[in-house]
Formats: sequence, structure tokens, C-alpha cells
Amino acid sequence: MLGFLENLKNEFLSYFVPEKVEYDIVGECKKCGKCCRYMYSFDTYTEKEFKFMQLLFPAYRRFYIRGKDADGNFIFACKYVTDEGLCSVYDKRLPMCKRYPHKKIYYPSNLHEGCGYKVIKKTFLDYMTK
Ligand code: SF4
Ligand code: SF4
Repeated sequence: MLGFLENLKNEFLSYFVPEKVEYDIVGECKKCGKCCRYMYSFDTYTEKEFKFMQLLFPAYRRFYIRGKDADGNFIFACKYVTDEGLCSVYDKRLPMCKRYPHKKIYYPSNLHEGCGYKVIKKTFLDYMTK
């Protein structure tokens, strides 16, 4: 329970953290729909936590648990992605969907295989010399 409260606090605080690194993103969306069908959450470990999150953040009610990966992490999907990989509520998609893949993040996560975007990862030396 304490861990979950900590997760909630982090979720709340994440909206106010100004010190995210900005990455360059190149490429364009190929409209494969993978990012709407296979998503991870860094702070939701049990179904109870997920349901509670949906209660607190109604926007998350569009997501459901579609399974687990080999490490036991939940894989989420959105109920609004069509069979063709398109968003059926495009004009009403969430801000997080509009920003994907995020330019300002703590660290570059891996994009889906075959995704049309690429994250340009900068090394420490890049930051010092450019
Ligand atoms: S995974 Fe990449 S290419 Fe596929 S829909 Fe998402 S952003 Fe577009
Ligand atoms: S709302 Fe649309 S863009 Fe956002 S995850 Fe769902 S299907 Fe994808």
C-alpha cells in the first residue's frame, strides 16, 4: 500500500517536473498502431492499482490490460485503436497521445520495432561540445 501511495505521489509530481531532457525525434508515424496496442506503465504493478488509477484519472479508462511481458510487467492497450492501427477518437485523443513520442523525457525509452520515429540519443560529450 505504501508503495502504491508513493506511485500516486510520483504520478502527480511528474506533471510538475521541469528538468526533463529534450531529445531530438526524427522520422514520421507509419500508422501501424503498435504504440496504442502495446504500452507500459512504470508505476502500475497490480490490477487493483490500475483500477484505482482509472478511478482517479478517468482518462485512463480507455486503457485495458492485454497481458504481461516475460518479466511480468503489464502490457496495456487502448480500446480506441482500430484494426487498421488508427485512432478512432483522433480529435479527442489524450495529450500524451498527441505528444508521442515525447521529446521531453527523463531518458529515451525504446520505440516499437518498425516505428517510423527514431530518438536521437545524445552522449555526455555531445552536450559538452554542441
Ligand atoms: S509505433 Fe510509431 S509508427 Fe507505429 S503508430 Fe506508433 S508512432 Fe506511429
Ligand atoms: S486515444 Fe487514440 S492515439 Fe491515444 S492510445 Fe487510444 S487509440 Fe492511440
